[in-house]
Amino acid sequence: MWRPPWSASRDRALLDLKMAAQRSTGKGPLTEDPQRAEALALDGLDSIAFARSLFQVDEGGTIYLDGNSLGMLPRRSLARVTQIVAEEWGRGLVRSWGAWVDLPGAVGDLLGEHLLGAAGGQTVVSDATTVNLYKLASAALDARPGRCVIVSDRANFPTDRYLLQGLVEARGMELRLVDFPEVEGPDADLLGPYLGPETALVSLSHVDYRSGALADMTAINQVIHASGALSLWDLCHSVGAVPIELDASGTDLAAGCTYKYLNGGPGSPAFLYVRRELQEGLRQPIWGWFGQADQFAMGQGYNPLPSIARFQSGSPAVLGIALVEEGVRLLAEIGIEAIRAKSLALTSFLIDLHDRWLAPMGFVLATPRDQARRGSQVCLRHPDAYHICRALLGDASVIADFRAPDRLRLGCAAPTTRFVDLYDAVHRLRRIMEDGGYLSLGPEPSRIT
Ligand SMILES: *Cc1c(COP(=O)(O)O)cnc(C)c1O
Repeated sequence: MWRPPWSASRDRALLDLKMAAQRSTGKGPLTEDPQRAEALALDGLDSIAFARSLFQVDEGGTIYLDGNSLGMLPRRSLARVTQIVAEEWGRGLVRSWGAWVDLPGAVGDLLGEHLLGAAGGQTVVSDATTVNLYKLASAALDARPGRCVIVSDRANFPTDRYLLQGLVEARGMELRLVDFPEVEGPDADLLGPYLGPETALVSLSHVDYRSGALADMTAINQVIHASGALSLWDLCHSVGAVPIELDASGTDLAAGCTYKYLNGGPGSPAFLYVRRELQEGLRQPIWGWFGQADQFAMGQGYNPLPSIARFQSGSPAVLGIALVEEGVRLLAEIGIEAIRAKSLALTSFLIDLHDRWLAPMGFVLATPRDQARRGSQVCLRHPDAYHICRALLGDASVIADFRAPDRLRLGCAAPTTRFVDLYDAVHRLRRIMEDGGYLSLGPEPSRIT
């Protein structure tokens, strides 16, 4: 178990580590800045430091702080891909479908058990997050006839707002977007007044993609249910980084992606969750044979399975789901509680570095200071964030990302990020700011930020 760096034994442990390191190298002080020594010592205390070696890591000096956008490659995924492609597909051919067909539900249950706080039979891996959110939102609207309003957050991730907009426009309904505080994000008390007998659905992100604010799922679900509406959560930025309790929090519906903290690989299929009591009463809009009872009878008329499988439509993306399984198994081995504890220690350390070095340079912290309200990233505002991010990606070899209009996002995926990475990244960032060369950088050659 991770020992929190704020525990009483911290100073003693740090001192022991520093002394041991000095004895072993015989080179005297490790570094001139005690804060870098502290970072190294914290890495020495890290009970999940072993996890980094389970990933393919670039040890050439690049610092990766974008695991919240695309997670790193688990080494075992390479072997799994070869197994599936060469053996199961190459040799097994169509016979392998016998096993593949169960993957969406099996990997969904694994995810539910270890990372979502969801009992079996409520989670399935399929499609993209956008598609899953659309399916669930559409099903929820059908289940609340006479109610004509969807409530969401004006700062919600764009795809969420677009798909909800598409739904209300097609149905002649209303999308009510709430302006929550920019850094702290959605809150039950602030949400309450926007809900009423006309509300069909409330759709929010568990962790805000820019600020990293973590919403209180249980309290918000209560307010939603008091109005008679259903709740739909986007878990893209929380799954694999924050312990989630879908069953205990009374969540109705949820979806999330698997290529961020779950390390499933680019475009890996997403997941969706539907609370068991609701499943039989909900119909998703894309009626396909993978949701059909007695699929291979090839019969007339759509008659969906009573289970979570009714939320599937077409053939599952087998390769992608197998890699999701690898990613989930890996996080399950490390343990989500240990991941969360280290993640909070990392983001706290980064916020300390910001306060000491970056705030005087014009950066403004745009992530909650309260640990209970924080996901696993730190967002910094700066008027030149775009160019600063580009300079980081250049010679500084720090991979972070920019989010319009003025935010630098620094992701702290706990299994692969070290404290010294954060120290060194901030050190390189300071050099960039002192040097000022970022101001003369030309336009971005890529359309991806
Ligand atoms: C990354 C992300 C998505 C992505 O949706 P896709 O359909 O997988 O492209 C959706 N919502 C949030 C909050 C995200 O962070």
